[in-house]
Amino acid sequence: MGAAIGSFLNVVVYRLPAGLSLLHPPSHCPHCQTPLQPYDNVPIFGWLWLRGRCRYCRAPISARYPLIEGLTGGLFLGTFWLLSLSWWTLAYWVLLSWLIALAFIDLDTLTLPNALTQTGLVMGLLTQALIPYLKTGSWSNGIQGLMAGVLGAVLGIWLFDLITFFASAALGQTAMGGGDAKLAAMLGAWLGWQGVLLSSFLGCVMGALVGGGAISLGLLSRRQPMPFGPF
Ligand SMILES: [Zn+2]
Repeated sequence: MGAAIGSFLNVVVYRLPAGLSLLHPPSHCPHCQTPLQPYDNVPIFGWLWLRGRCRYCRAPISARYPLIEGLTGGLFLGTFWLLSLSWWTLAYWVLLSWLIALAFIDLDTLTLPNALTQTGLVMGLLTQALIPYLKTGSWSNGIQGLMAGVLGAVLGIWLFDLITFFASAALGQTAMGGGDAKLAAMLGAWLGWQGVLLSSFLGCVMGALVGGGAISLGLLSRRQPMPFGPF
């Protein structure tokens, strides 16, 4: 199921930044436009059977398609292993889907679309309110959960404004895109204040290591923008 959702995330990553409809037209080869048959569209295996080429025009199909499908399937499976089948498992599957789409769109376009960060934020707050209610039947637990989500979201924005301020002062140029603060707000809504602190800290450390490494290896110039969302 995760791989099948990953297959749809490929469509989102490709079509959302281009402003195309997510549902129409159905999947087709971007090279020859031939619509794909259901048996071409089987996650991961479809690509392997066709050896990474379109059945009709033999144009190569990027290995990123099965990779995103495998990644989504693996993360869904890992969540299921940790939490078995529960409300939180379903909720984290939603969060992971949003994060995977955002990470690859940021890699491609250096932007984090508001359509995703804003809906992700709202869904995080709804989840924080609904799951405690569904588990205990008490709305006061739901409101407590909602407050934890709001606190996390506010902390996320505040933290990234602070990071942007200091990093921009240190580099002498704008260091972060506005989308990063919105992504942090979304993460805060889902994970609460401890979660957003931890994920922002780990993201900054990984981003600095990978970015610093790429600059010292000459793969990236100091002035070149780098997507931060994936970290
Ligand atoms: Zn084709």
